[in-house]
Amino acid sequence: MKIVSVHEGTVPISSSIRNAWIDFSAMDCSIVAVVSDVIRDGRPVVGYGFNSNGRYSAGDILRRRVIPRLLDAPADAVVTDDGSNIDPIRAWDFMMRNEKPGGHGERSVAVGVVDMALFDLAAKIAGQPLYRFLSDRYGDGEPDDSVFVYAAGGYYAPGKGLRELQDEMKGFLDLGYRVVKMKIGGASLKEDLERIEAVLEVLGGDGSRLAVDVNGRFDLTTALEYGRAIEPYGLFWYEEVGDPLDYALNATLSEHYRGPIATGENLFSLPDARNLVRYAGMRPDRDFIQVDPALSYGLTEYLRIQDMLRQHGWSSRRCVPHGGHQFSLHIAAALKLGGNESYPGEFQPTGGFADDAVVRDSQVGLTDTPGIGFEGKAAFYQVLRELHD
Ligand code: MG
Repeated sequence: MKIVSVHEGTVPISSSIRNAWIDFSAMDCSIVAVVSDVIRDGRPVVGYGFNSNGRYSAGDILRRRVIPRLLDAPADAVVTDDGSNIDPIRAWDFMMRNEKPGGHGERSVAVGVVDMALFDLAAKIAGQPLYRFLSDRYGDGEPDDSVFVYAAGGYYAPGKGLRELQDEMKGFLDLGYRVVKMKIGGASLKEDLERIEAVLEVLGGDGSRLAVDVNGRFDLTTALEYGRAIEPYGLFWYEEVGDPLDYALNATLSEHYRGPIATGENLFSLPDARNLVRYAGMRPDRDFIQVDPALSYGLTEYLRIQDMLRQHGWSSRRCVPHGGHQFSLHIAAALKLGGNESYPGEFQPTGGFADDAVVRDSQVGLTDTPGIGFEGKAAFYQVLRELHD
């Protein structure tokens, strides 16, 4: 097989929500279609990718560096030994040619979106849903048949009071989620504690069903102050408390805060994730690592991160990727991660799972559509088709 063409574009994922750092009203996202010369049912097999959410589109890097390098690679160097399928891991090396180490920035996003499209393509050519394709090649051949998901919301929004926050959380429970997440750190401690207690009321007082997310906002003093205040609630986790690269802050926090800490959604490479494990005091018996494969050089790099974690004594079950997208859902089932984020109704058209996906007791099943299954997400599929049709 060979790649015939690669198409990239940008879609808005605009939203009025806000966390402790940013509002999402101007957020957009890169999308990519990789068209192959393999024909099924009279049409070429096409792989699709997008760059999750939380980082802007990376069109310039895609157009000027990543896509030309992929198209310039010798056709036989980016395929499997028998030439019948694309090999995304071989293709990755070409996309990263002439790139210095470190300073990952938006480059990891650009490579991640094409890597996702190549894995979608490879699984489609193999005629398998991605989770089976991955489990056979990189897992133990027995993927999980459903994945734990929690509903991430609880954003700050204009006019949103405690009542609206509670209604939002009740809506998540009605959708089938048991565990929910809310933003903190965008208001005073007093106000945030009122918000937390309002949500706990909806959860019957069970703190183990509520995660809180600071989005990297706190300095050490505030991190510890909030930690002392929320520890008695026994929360599901306390997320991204300080700057993503401030490993010493996290290490100090972990010496004081007894509950689980989660972080890593803004770490975009193997070396950054390894430094987190080495220097940030992360505890393999209770903490969670949230690296998002779509933002961090794709699944190719994520497989290396999984190897590194194993080497350091971490179970794959301690990984719950950021992003709430279908790519990570397949990866979670195949590599036996601890679960996946979910943003019911947010970040459209890209985010979320198949249109007919059902959440029961905070578990979601996988579909048998070949590849990632964007075809089962009608509004997004239409946008992706327009890239190349
Ligand atoms: Mg987060």
